[in-house]
Amino acid sequence: MDYDRFFQSALDRLQSERRYRVFADLERIAGRFPHARWHTPAGVREVVLWCSNDYLGMGQHPKVIGAMVETATRMGTGAGGTRNISGTNHPLVELEAELADLHGKEAALVFTSGYVSNESGIATIAKLIPDCLILSDALNHNSMIEGVRRSGREKVIFRHNDLGHLEELLRAAGPERPKLIVFESIYSMDGDVAPIAAICDLAARYGAMTYLDEVHAVGMYGPRGGGIAERDGVMARVDVIEGTLAKAFGCLGGYIAGSAALVDAVRSYAPGFIFTTALPPAVCAAATASIRHLKTSQWERTRHQERVGRTKALLAAAGLPLMASETHIVPVLVGDPERCKAASDLLLEEHGIYIQPINYPTVPRGTERLRITPTPYHDDALIGRLAEAMVDVWERLGLPLNRSVLAAE
Ligand SMILES: *Cc1c(COP(=O)(O)O)cnc(C)c1O
Repeated sequence: MDYDRFFQSALDRLQSERRYRVFADLERIAGRFPHARWHTPAGVREVVLWCSNDYLGMGQHPKVIGAMVETATRMGTGAGGTRNISGTNHPLVELEAELADLHGKEAALVFTSGYVSNESGIATIAKLIPDCLILSDALNHNSMIEGVRRSGREKVIFRHNDLGHLEELLRAAGPERPKLIVFESIYSMDGDVAPIAAICDLAARYGAMTYLDEVHAVGMYGPRGGGIAERDGVMARVDVIEGTLAKAFGCLGGYIAGSAALVDAVRSYAPGFIFTTALPPAVCAAATASIRHLKTSQWERTRHQERVGRTKALLAAAGLPLMASETHIVPVLVGDPERCKAASDLLLEEHGIYIQPINYPTVPRGTERLRITPTPYHDDALIGRLAEAMVDVWERLGLPLNRSVLAAE
């Protein structure tokens, strides 16, 4: 039997729907972020990254690199096993204490990724609550959807950030039934923000628990980088905060923070925690260094927001169709998968600018976009070149530019 034919036909389906993905072969240059080397069949070229989720450039911070190298030199590379089998490396104990402190919670538990923390965390929490009803935002990340699914609990979906709909569903569930609301603070494709305080009000009124994914906010918002809940002064009202060490903190890993009993129960019951090797000690030490730095340093957060503001202003002034975003995420609408891919290819090949196309199923069909993430290290010259390059690409592909903005200048 020719088994490969099944895989080939699956790939052909993606090709015909223009959903087949190609990853650029890149090599970041520490110390010169966002510059990177792009490996092409024709040779190596230098390009500028405009879509990294290393939002603050912490992946190249000397303190973070230093902690990783020093710890690997002292303790070796791998963790040597699951925590059940091999115990916990000390840097992981320190990291969890740092995370619990960051979010003002009794305890925190680290997983090998943010994905696993949601998938295993939500599933385990909901499973441990008898007859739990899960109320899930319609735009939740795939890792949360998988967590909800694996819990085996009944779920209802509320319309994205729609408090009226959420309240209706909470009321319908009745006061006696245990309820878990799962949602995100920043939704990373549109850059919009959840009304966390109002969701906590509803949770209190109807006796629900809250689980908040702050993956796109930790390190970047709040006076100590605790996220949007910290910025809004509602961190203590959220029962479980989940985050990643892989985006603004520039490392790898994910976590949940909550009450001591909840965290201990997840530690004791979650298969995605129990049966997999722990993060390497060097990665834990690097993450701790990054979190500690961002707890006190405001430079990265201030400069990040300022760069984002400048990028949005320049792209809008150039007539590019910016989508509304309240945060550091700058989505530019293309509205068609082929031209979205073509725009990304032209930017890379002709202008040395790397922005991955965002197509269905990551976003709804017809809303295909380029998702731009400025960092503190994108200077005025880079932003100016981005705007010029995008206008060039838009003109070449016959994509609409807002000429009235241009004329008004
Ligand atoms: C990236 C992402 C995750 C997964 O985090 P990783 O650490 O990359 O596995 C979880 N939730 C959301 C909303 C994300 O965007």
